[in-house]
Amino acid sequence: MSGSAQKKRGFVITVDGPSAAGKGTLARRLATHFGFDFLDTGSLYRGVGLAVLRQGLDPADEKAATAAAKALKPEILSDSAIRAENTSTAASKVAAIPSVRAAILYWQRDFARHAARDSGGAVLDGRDIGTVVCPDADAKLFITASVQARADRRVKELQARGETAIYARVLQDMQERDARDQGRSISPTKPATDALIIDTSDLTADQVFERALAFIASKMKA
Ligand code: C5P
Repeated sequence: MSGSAQKKRGFVITVDGPSAAGKGTLARRLATHFGFDFLDTGSLYRGVGLAVLRQGLDPADEKAATAAAKALKPEILSDSAIRAENTSTAASKVAAIPSVRAAILYWQRDFARHAARDSGGAVLDGRDIGTVVCPDADAKLFITASVQARADRRVKELQARGETAIYARVLQDMQERDARDQGRSISPTKPATDALIIDTSDLTADQVFERALAFIASKMKA
């Protein structure tokens, strides 16, 4: 992309990957570092999943999930219940429904366009941001780790929040969620062909940040 085109729409960084690989931590840190706006796209699917659960309906029900996606209100995104484990499962079920993804796609692209223009750049984290939502992004990262390392981190995270967490159960939930997210026919979790893949299993958050920064710097110069 030419320098002037870049100025017009801002610099877009995408951070994709499976759950608990460290992409949220990295994406937030990058946004703060560059002074860019940040969107956790998983929270949108979580918001839809939570809204359906609160209506006492099945998150896999296409009609209920699509209606919730179209009516999604920003307030629900700051509700602490969107981080609960049953909301994670509901989110990955609504996320497999094409009409839900279509409604959420609009939100995400609108955010990327406006945020990137207003603050000079945007960081979006999710599963399909580099492949589907912002395929022309300036720097794409794919953050992954072994499922065991991710389950271990999730257990520590839950325990730090005062919740009881059994490793075997968390591991199983994560494997099931991975299978749904990677196996779905629409927008499966996968790296874009031009993404830098970072396996964080044996890296500290600082090491991941340094690698990501070096890659982004090379794209900013290009
Ligand atoms: O990232 P997080 O764990 O909050 O995402 C919750 C769920 O939302 C994921 O398991 C996935 O099914 C879905 N999701 C998605 N596409 C995105 C972001 C999240 O399908 N861009």
